[in-house]
Amino acid sequence: MSSFELRPHHGLCTAFFEGRGYSPAFIRHMTAMIAFLDSHNPDIRLVLHTDRICSACPHNKDGLCESSSKVTGYDRQVLTLCGLQENQQLSWKNFQELVFLNILRRGLLCTVCRDCQWLFLCSEKNKKFLTTPAYYDKIEL
Ligand code: SF4
Repeated sequence: MSSFELRPHHGLCTAFFEGRGYSPAFIRHMTAMIAFLDSHNPDIRLVLHTDRICSACPHNKDGLCESSSKVTGYDRQVLTLCGLQENQQLSWKNFQELVFLNILRRGLLCTVCRDCQWLFLCSEKNKKFLTTPAYYDKIEL
């Protein structure tokens, strides 16, 4: 079976997703994707193009993200900060852990996602979770 393609910056979007997004169909799909990743812990392949999460996004135009240059910049920053490469494969939980340790716990979310429209939601949660032991339990370090 082919690996689950994931844009690296979606490791940040999934961390703080709370059921808000670009459309009802996108929200349903994102919810299902996170449930699948968390329950199956598949091998993922880190790609710099539209992925399984993008498949239900209204900004995905024939396989190309309308914000491609912006989000590819997020992807490259996530790869660099986590010491990963394009097309690298690793388990979902291993990737989650690297994102948590190298970006979220170091308070670098606002650096990576500085011009994202959802940053106001995620940055508050990041601050809160950094001081909440339950978040460490979720990540299963
Ligand atoms: S198509 Fe673009 S805006 Fe939509 S989920 Fe993918 S990266 Fe995000």
